Amino acid sequence: MTCFVCETSITDTLFMIHSQVHLPLCLACKETNQEKDKVKELLEGLAEDLGIGCI
Ligand SMILES: [Zn+2]
Repeated sequence: MTCFVCETSITDTLFMIHSQVHLPLCLACKETNQEKDKVKELLEGLAEDLGIGCI
């Protein structure tokens, strides 16, 4: 398992599952701008995949 923001291997219990994207996030990335950017990117990608990108 790797952190979806920094892609560091998560080998212990110091991580959380992000509530919006349901991916593992290490505590070092929690609530950083990097994390927010990555979540935005992922959610936008997901919206495009589902064809709900534009209103
Ligand atoms: Zn991380």
